[in-house]
Amino acid sequence: MELPRYAIEAKGLVKTYAATKTTPAKTALNGLDLQIPRGSIFGLLGPNGAGKSTFINILAGLVRKTSGKVEIWGRDIDQRPRDSRAAIGVVSQEIAADVFFTPRESLEQQAGLYGVPPKERHTMDLLNALGLGDKADAYVRQLSGGMKRRLMVAKAMVHNPPVLILDEPTAGVDVELRRQLWQYVLGLNRLGVTIVLTTHYLEEAQELCDTIAIVNRGEVVACEPTSQLLRRLDTRAVVITPQAPLTAIPNLGRFDAKLRADGRLAVTFKTAEAGVETVLAAVREAGVAIKDLATEDPDLEDVFIALTYAAADAKNSTAY
Ligand code: ADP
Repeated sequence: MELPRYAIEAKGLVKTYAATKTTPAKTALNGLDLQIPRGSIFGLLGPNGAGKSTFINILAGLVRKTSGKVEIWGRDIDQRPRDSRAAIGVVSQEIAADVFFTPRESLEQQAGLYGVPPKERHTMDLLNALGLGDKADAYVRQLSGGMKRRLMVAKAMVHNPPVLILDEPTAGVDVELRRQLWQYVLGLNRLGVTIVLTTHYLEEAQELCDTIAIVNRGEVVACEPTSQLLRRLDTRAVVITPQAPLTAIPNLGRFDAKLRADGRLAVTFKTAEAGVETVLAAVREAGVAIKDLATEDPDLEDVFIALTYAAADAKNSTAY
């Protein structure tokens, strides 16, 4: 069979959650277009409420889209719901472990749900690969949080899907287990499995993902190879402790300044356009005496703000 070009492709995807008695209708996905290349380790980033989980839940068949088109492994989710779902394994945010089963039973049961014949199951290999071999017959309730999370990864892989989706996989997982989890995931990728992960941590995405999409308000605002994206986000901040408390944000001309709750002034600048010296000169010019200073690399929030502004500008300029 011919391999699809994209592991996942979404076109004009819309999801509006209906209003309830207490909440108004909410559009979580607002015409999302996304192409996830086959074989990639793809990061889906965005602030809380951007629509990441909604997208993943649509892929997993847990949420019904309002409109738009989605193909998983070249299979349309409306026309071939079962086939498309068989192509993905999803590790969701919540730890939903069946406390009455052992990890071995849990995987066997999951394999049964996917119709994997007993002879083709690879329960012990999966448990060993995820460092759970010696816990195969323990009760799930005796496992630590990190172990339960790894068990969920194993469950997502029982049917050998070509695409593995991880929603915030390392939230609450300690450093050592996180490394073990990534080793396994990277190993799967080397075997050809496409990996999609959502995370808040830019650092994590930066380290692992070859391609990153940034989602905001249900739309993709950037999607490119990680290195290219990071070059675009060459912003840094100078954080200044003033000699005397500031009562207002000084006017720094072309630099964007924010007054933090601790009284420090954070000034962001593009490294390609200015240096720390220029920023400091502007601060002094504005009459602020500097007591202390530090520099900071951008976090996802900054990156994100920069990109959403850029996207809004682009839209405005095409509108006129
Ligand atoms: P993310 O995973 O990026 O944090 P979500 O997909 O969880 O974003 O949420 C996107 C938006 O949709 C948010 O405003 C959220 O409040 C809303 N939302 C998510 N799930 C539901 C739901 N079941 N009913 C109503 N609104 C929802």
